[in-house]
Amino acid sequence: MPRTASTHDMIARPSIPTVARSPVAARAAVFIDQDGALLNPLQPNADPTQLRFRTGACDSLAALAATGMALIVVTNQSGLSLGRFTRWEFSQLQAVLERHLSEAAGITLTDFVVCPHTPTAGGQPACLCRTPAPGMLIRAARAHRIDLAASWMVGDTLDDIEAGRRAGCRALLLDTGRETKWRRSPLRTPHSSCTGWEAVTPLILADRHSRLPLGESTAALKG
Ligand SMILES: [Zn+2]
Repeated sequence: MPRTASTHDMIARPSIPTVARSPVAARAAVFIDQDGALLNPLQPNADPTQLRFRTGACDSLAALAATGMALIVVTNQSGLSLGRFTRWEFSQLQAVLERHLSEAAGITLTDFVVCPHTPTAGGQPACLCRTPAPGMLIRAARAHRIDLAASWMVGDTLDDIEAGRRAGCRALLLDTGRETKWRRSPLRTPHSSCTGWEAVTPLILADRHSRLPLGESTAALKG
């Protein structure tokens, strides 16, 4: 049976737990945006019957998990605050998602972190957790002893890229066409980019094996 990951609510659980000293080395993680990167974009009602994984996502994540990397879903879900769906309804979606990952690919997520807050009228985060803010990544890193500098954020928008960079991770843009504004800045520049999950694992594993800085050269893999 798949384990049920704890869904962090960044308002209800504002205190950051103290990480006890441990001889165990910090793990690298892959933080994964849910809507658009892991899944085809959902209708704004969290209906589990509409849940569709991106092609190749499960196989790619299984390969990353096999290397010992933690897998952590991070997701903006302002529909919770806007009343489009309830926490119970979202928990049903989460359960279906986790069950599929377990049954189809043998994957157990280390965590599943949700920002339930709405942005400002201008679209900027009004909390510390909604991407492009890095709060969900930082909180999960503290809770699970994650080495952020050795970790990656995989997302389909430049807000995801900015959140990853602000957290101190490398950031990979899975360009599925969902980013349309392309508001560029150094913080919104991915370390690497590609258009499909089949390229995600090779890019991340090449970085882990080489430990060399990734530059613009990896853009050749795009397309
Ligand atoms: Zn938030």
